Amino acid sequence: MSSESDLESLAGGVKAVACRYCGLHGTLNNHGRMTDKSGALRGRRFWCCPRRKGRPGCGRTFCVWLGSVIPRHSVRADKLAEFLAAWGRLDGNVLAAWQQARTGFSTDSAYRWAKRFVRNQGGVRTRLCRARAPPRPLQASVHADLFGHLALVFGTAPFTEAFQIRFQSPWPMDA
Ligand SMILES: [Zn+2]
Repeated sequence: MSSESDLESLAGGVKAVACRYCGLHGTLNNHGRMTDKSGALRGRRFWCCPRRKGRPGCGRTFCVWLGSVIPRHSVRADKLAEFLAAWGRLDGNVLAAWQQARTGFSTDSAYRWAKRFVRNQGGVRTRLCRARAPPRPLQASVHADLFGHLALVFGTAPFTEAFQIRFQSPWPMDA
């Protein structure tokens, strides 16, 4: 989901939305809002109701997050993209990128983000290749080909956020 108003209209018209798991329409119920510590909206949860005559739902729940939210992480998607882009430009120098991006998070977080980016790049590359063929490889800086591919698909938008909206899937951040 891109914006708060998109998410609210999804919640308002939830009966017209298909369940992510069983694909049925008309079975979803709103099942709560996810907020951060300050109470700001992060996403909404939906429940596919199994107590229904005819074709009951599957009983599973799932979350739809705002594009600016990285699920299970408190860093905003655009701040993470800013840090990672700086990290790429600065040839993998985490400290310099951390200073430049001013995310408000610790250097420990910055090291973790860089490590997770490297570790999860396969998942990112697979999705990007489905969207567009990769650019010719460059040898300029660390993962320059991947950053080039991200720029090719998403332009100047914060790529983490654009990725989540385009693929309706969280930016990969597995440890
Ligand atoms: Zn379902």
